[in-house]
Amino acid sequence: MRRRSSHTPSMPELPEVETTARGIEPHLRDRRIARLVVHQPRLRWRVDPDLSRWIHGQQVRGVRRRAKYILIEVTHGWLLLHLGMSGSLRILPDSTALEPHDHFDLELDSRWTLRFNDPRRFGSLHHGTGDPLEHPLLAKLAPEPLDPEFNTEYLYRVTRGRRVAIKLAIMNSQLVVGVGNIYASEALFRAGIRPGRAARSLTRAECAALVKGIKAVLKMAIRHGGTTLRDYVGAEGKPGYFKQKLFVYERAGEPCRRCGTLVRHRNQGQRSTYFCTTCQH
Ligand SMILES: [Zn+2]
Repeated sequence: MRRRSSHTPSMPELPEVETTARGIEPHLRDRRIARLVVHQPRLRWRVDPDLSRWIHGQQVRGVRRRAKYILIEVTHGWLLLHLGMSGSLRILPDSTALEPHDHFDLELDSRWTLRFNDPRRFGSLHHGTGDPLEHPLLAKLAPEPLDPEFNTEYLYRVTRGRRVAIKLAIMNSQLVVGVGNIYASEALFRAGIRPGRAARSLTRAECAALVKGIKAVLKMAIRHGGTTLRDYVGAEGKPGYFKQKLFVYERAGEPCRRCGTLVRHRNQGQRSTYFCTTCQH
């Protein structure tokens, strides 16, 4: 039976951003930027009118991700892109007709263009020189969940003394970046921890299980995203945000995939939380 998907957020999460960065990188690397054409500068912050002149003729050195930002390094600096709530990037022939909500084209000397579409306009485009990681948007970010510094000891240390629910703690980007609602729910299921538990109540062993759960669920999501890389190329291509096999997320009232108990739903911090009362303690 086809399930209702109206609750599924289309907001790009860390795995989608990572997949996007990996997907566009081969098309951008070593290419020169023929032109930046801004069709609609009104994003979360207005696109700098001097940016087109500044970027002209620069060569792309590489593409990487930090938190949910895409960093495009060029000859004399960098571009910093955020997909916001609804943004997407596609690689298209530079003659492709515009569609509603297309904000800018980064035209390459290959005659292909990187096109940004964002109906809700929460995305952003910045540029600068020097160390991009010192930009105010990036400088104070917490560790990456997939980096070694996000480990058992770290999670144990930052949860001490915190009464806040563990799910809200791991979704707090001042503790760890990029763990969205889906991934927090799924990681807590994998770790056998109830989402409402006080963060400080977690034992060291539970912190270990949760760190492992967060890394595993994000890696799986990135792997699934990886199968849709081809969707970034071609006029009809839309970023194919994967649909993965979820244990609890949006499965309220359905049997737990491990034990058969019906999955419960609760609102927590204005977000929906899903869990199994048998598998999670
Ligand atoms: Zn269960």
